[in-house]
Amino acid sequence: VEGIEEVRVAMMADRPQRRIIAVGSGKGGVGKSTLTANLAIALARAGRKVGIVDADIYGPSQPTLLANQGERPVAENDKLVPVESKWGVPVLSMGHLVEPGRAIAWRGPMVGSALGQLIDANWGDTELLLIDLPPGTGDVQLTMLQRFKPAGAVIVSTPQDLSLIDATRAMQLFETGSIPVIGLVENMAGYACPHCGELSDPFGTGGVETAAAAKGVPFLGRIPLSLEIREASDAGTPPAADDGVQGEAFRAIADKLSR
Ligand code: ADP
Repeated sequence: VEGIEEVRVAMMADRPQRRIIAVGSGKGGVGKSTLTANLAIALARAGRKVGIVDADIYGPSQPTLLANQGERPVAENDKLVPVESKWGVPVLSMGHLVEPGRAIAWRGPMVGSALGQLIDANWGDTELLLIDLPPGTGDVQLTMLQRFKPAGAVIVSTPQDLSLIDATRAMQLFETGSIPVIGLVENMAGYACPHCGELSDPFGTGGVETAAAAKGVPFLGRIPLSLEIREASDAGTPPAADDGVQGEAFRAIADKLSR
């Protein structure tokens, strides 16, 4: 068809070489959003141009984590323009598009098209896009993975058996979509008592590393369960934003991703 090559070239020019990495988990509440925000910030501090798509459409938490809840993205030439955060990480989240506290009751196709608008937005010179996926392994995730073909996926789990079983399912989801699993991250492993410093393991420890070895995928690192991480996250000052010890584990994982 006449002109089709021009259209294809124009579309390619519109979508520069941008690496997409999906961050997924088998279930919610394991720290997927916390990890995504901190990895992005650590990478940005290391000089990378990185953005976040908060695809956790039913429970968007990036606006809180990045402390830019009040921002509203505008559209230019039919494309959304990502909103800035003070950590040098632009972000697009459903949380910026719907009123806070409002439940989203959409069906699959609507979610799919909303996500498409977040990913196909005007990302400018962003070279790496981290996608904070919804938890679980539904059709929405699969459709999105097939449509946007991330270069790879990072999967987060707590050391707990239940979370691990779900994480294994999440790995299967990526395999189905032919998306390589970059590696597994163990979150909430080992708790240091803020009073006496004694270490305990409320959710066990080491399970994710064992699972990674069994599956033959890399183990990217372990993030401790820490009151400071929780408080800093709720306060919109992610631990990776400064040089403090709480950000160390995130920096180490970010380092592996940027290689
Ligand atoms: P998900 O995205 O998997 O649903 P979140 O990142 O929203 O999980 O984390 C769930 C809750 O756990 C949040 O309150 C967050 O601050 C807290 N949290 C996550 N990781 C840690 C950690 N390593 N130590 C302490 N609290 C954490």
